[in-house]
Amino acid sequence: MALINIDNEKCNLSYSCVRICPVNAIKVEAHQDYPEVMHNACIGCGHCLKVCSPGAISYRDSKEDAKTLLGSDDKVAAICGPSISGEFHDITDYRKFVDMIRALGFEYVFEASFGVDLVARKYNELFNSFKGKYYITANCPAVVSYIEKFHPDLTDNLAPLVSPMIATAKVARKKYGNKLRVVYIGPCIETKKEGKRYRDDGRIDAVLTFAELRELFTEYDISEKKVEFSDFDPPIGYKGSLYPISTGILEAADIDQSLLDGNVITAEGRNGMLEAVNQFEKQIDNIKKHFNLFYNEGCIMGPGTSRGGEKFRRHALVVDYAKRRLKNFDVKKWEKDMEEFGKLDLSRKFKKDDQRLPFPDEDKIQEILQVIGKENNVDEIGCASCGYTSCRDFAVAVARGLAKTEMCLTFTLKNRHDYIRTLRETNQKLAETQEALRKSEKNARREQQLARESFETTHTMLEKLPSSVVLVDNELKVIQANKSFINMLDEEARMIEDVIPGLEGADLKTLLPYNFYNLFSYVLNQDDNIVNRDVLFNDILYNISIFTIRKNKIVGAVIRDLYVPEVRKEEVIKRVTDVIDKNLELVQKIGFLLGEGASETEAMLNSIIESYKMPEKPEEDGE
Ligand code: SF4
Ligand code: SF4
Repeated sequence: MALINIDNEKCNLSYSCVRICPVNAIKVEAHQDYPEVMHNACIGCGHCLKVCSPGAISYRDSKEDAKTLLGSDDKVAAICGPSISGEFHDITDYRKFVDMIRALGFEYVFEASFGVDLVARKYNELFNSFKGKYYITANCPAVVSYIEKFHPDLTDNLAPLVSPMIATAKVARKKYGNKLRVVYIGPCIETKKEGKRYRDDGRIDAVLTFAELRELFTEYDISEKKVEFSDFDPPIGYKGSLYPISTGILEAADIDQSLLDGNVITAEGRNGMLEAVNQFEKQIDNIKKHFNLFYNEGCIMGPGTSRGGEKFRRHALVVDYAKRRLKNFDVKKWEKDMEEFGKLDLSRKFKKDDQRLPFPDEDKIQEILQVIGKENNVDEIGCASCGYTSCRDFAVAVARGLAKTEMCLTFTLKNRHDYIRTLRETNQKLAETQEALRKSEKNARREQQLARESFETTHTMLEKLPSSVVLVDNELKVIQANKSFINMLDEEARMIEDVIPGLEGADLKTLLPYNFYNLFSYVLNQDDNIVNRDVLFNDILYNISIFTIRKNKIVGAVIRDLYVPEVRKEEVIKRVTDVIDKNLELVQKIGFLLGEGASETEAMLNSIIESYKMPEKPEEDGE
């Protein structure tokens, strides 16, 4: 499992981790939303853990490894980082703390301060026997990783000495044999990786952070009141207990730190360490000092300590603890131990592990600067809200696929302003459209009202017409029919009309015989109106005219009952007139042949017409 992990479910996309990571080991690719750790580049500083407010970032949990070791037949030793005094101040006596660790099943409990003393002595020798080469201390594993990965040319300047953790493991194995299993308990998470680098007597089988140790105490219900006093297993450290404070190793080594005579510079914290390494690389010939570096502000603020710790309170606790331990300290015994274990091989080698990414094309960088609107101020220091020191550095990161343009605050703000402006314009257009819609709705309502009124008028007129009127669609379904039409149908149709007023939707084929409805089909299909066609239906002669209302879609018909007296009279007049007209034509032709006889025929027919035109006498007159 990787050292650092991100839980996307918890991530709120703040990108605080991306901004804080000192080596840009957390990338956000253009197509991604969630940040992703590039594990090979990560130096285990743990800074991302501290800034992730929703707790989406976690480090590898080693509790199960420790439990497995403790459950085995092997003897297991715990080595406690000297910064316990800054972390476990809630436990009233350090001896209770030691017994609580034993209660977990550890056979031996060592304090790494003796390892600090051993390593400190080596530093004293190294720094005070200057042979023209300046060194960077190699106690902080995050610093070592940083140099191996991002300043590989300085690897040879790392002090070739193991860390106090490894030195103490060697001490423990020298005392209790090479089979001894070792669990280191400390404030740091990169030690989880450092422990795996050794295969010899300095190997570490598991690393627990202070936070994980607290979790184990809770899990096994181990508390101060349930244990007795128990001291650390010897050898006991001397000034090594000051190690958690960044200058503590120098104090333990009796290395001169004075400004005038000292030959070591101490730097701590993210920016201090980064700046120090940069300057060491560029200016060491002018600086002429060894560098004592810690990524965190000493070990007391390591990422494996409890959250919310206060640096200076922890500082004071460490110093108080060291004072108490040194009060009646048996220096002679310590010197004897130092002599015995001072022969251990504390040397170490480093390996270049270059994780620097190739530099992108200048054209690509310029293109990105243009996109984020920064092509003109590339030399200026940026706002750093993206986490990069300049806009150019940010553009380089985007070109390398480590960041995306949306992480640039000014670019995002500009986009947002553009978006807001577009939104405002869209809203304006929307309001105008809504107004237009309101007006057109009003018009539509008015037109609807007019249409309804006109429909009602037409309907009333149709109902009043003595002739039958029916409108059908292309499936011969009735759209509208007036009373006269319904009356001309049989009883069954009239019953349907009771249920469906106006017979709307009724099938004409069920209402009229084939010879009748077929005329409708003809007009629908042929778009050819039928005018004054006589059709016999139910022993009544009807005169029908069918005409297209909407081509091939709707036709209408006017049907007149020729047996109704008014119709009959009118029709007889019309038809006799037609006969006269036709006969006249004929008579004119015959007149040439027969002479006067024709005029008599005309007179006779005209007299018939006149007799039909004469009003009928009222019945009360007895006619
Ligand atoms: S700091 Fe935490 S919440 Fe923010 S982007 Fe990183 S992982 Fe997500
Ligand atoms: S632990 Fe440090 S180096 Fe690793 S990802 Fe987090 S901030 Fe970056």
